[in-house]
Amino acid sequence: MSTVDLRSDTVTRPTPAMREAMMRAELGDDVLGDDPTVRALEARIADELGKPAACFTPSGTQANLCAVRAQTEPGDEIIMHATSHVYFYETGGFAAIAGCSARFIDSPDGRFGPEVIEPIMRPVEQHFARSRLLIVENTHNKGGGTVWPVDLIAAVCERAKSLGLRRHLDGARLFNAVVASGTPARDYAGHFDTISTCFSKGLGAPVGSAVIGDEATIGRVRRLRKMFGGAMRQSGLLAAAALYALDHNIERLGDDHNNARRLAEAIKEIPGLSVELDRVETNMVFFEVDPALGTAEDFCAALDQRGVRMLALGETQVRAVTHLDVSAKQIEVAIDAIRECVQSLAL
Ligand SMILES: *Cc1c(COP(=O)(O)O)cnc(C)c1O
Repeated sequence: MSTVDLRSDTVTRPTPAMREAMMRAELGDDVLGDDPTVRALEARIADELGKPAACFTPSGTQANLCAVRAQTEPGDEIIMHATSHVYFYETGGFAAIAGCSARFIDSPDGRFGPEVIEPIMRPVEQHFARSRLLIVENTHNKGGGTVWPVDLIAAVCERAKSLGLRRHLDGARLFNAVVASGTPARDYAGHFDTISTCFSKGLGAPVGSAVIGDEATIGRVRRLRKMFGGAMRQSGLLAAAALYALDHNIERLGDDHNNARRLAEAIKEIPGLSVELDRVETNMVFFEVDPALGTAEDFCAALDQRGVRMLALGETQVRAVTHLDVSAKQIEVAIDAIRECVQSLAL
């Protein structure tokens, strides 16, 4: 039985063509500054985002951590969404390693307006942490893979800037937002001091992220990457996969979005499962399992037995993510498996 793995868009494996590109990559020692393929990737992604500089990192977590540490001092405070990846899924690195505290913005879908920032800024006075950095996530993972309209980003960032905050975009899935909204990446990026983006999610590369920004900030990021153990040597092998992904795998993200929509629409029709369709804007489907069927964990275990893998994210919530290694046909296979699974659990 072949599996349809919808746990995450990180599960994709490099295709033969991507592996070919990796095999052909010219290599050097990137810590000594002379891996031409890494240099080419950094120039390419910086250009794509309309910024002067970029630094290739082993993971998105490290990219965000370097960006946070490069733009704050210990004791500074970060303003971010309560379900942001930096807070939720990065083992508290912003606190443990950057020494920052945080204040949170809450909203159902990860988006917010400019008016929410000022009320949670700290007064400039000796008792208080210094409000220093705003983080926006686009697409917003736990919000459902939701896309920020560029006008809202512009308004939020303009307000943050006028209040003296630096602005970081966690754009792990920025290209999903680009394809879904039709907004060029650089139009989003222009509102931020730094951006992180991931090559190993929907773009399908095996490893790697980047931090993009101005020369001085990226200089600090590069030094911090070394400090955090993330400076790599013949990493052109990995950069070649990321370059291949930028050339071939952006436009096709639209297929993943169509597949996610098809999956969500089918789930909506299955008794015992519920999904908020208008939250399905990109490649993620979050849905709820009626406790009468069991827990989300029970549901995923039963589904796994039918060759379909999803992630249980709580007592009742399940997440399915579409990607490069899941075809429209496999989505139909998954839908059949979900139906069977719900029927068996309902008995
Ligand atoms: C995946 C992800 C990251 C980075 O994760 P890594 O697994 O460390 O590469 C950062 N932000 C968001 C929103 C993500 O989904």
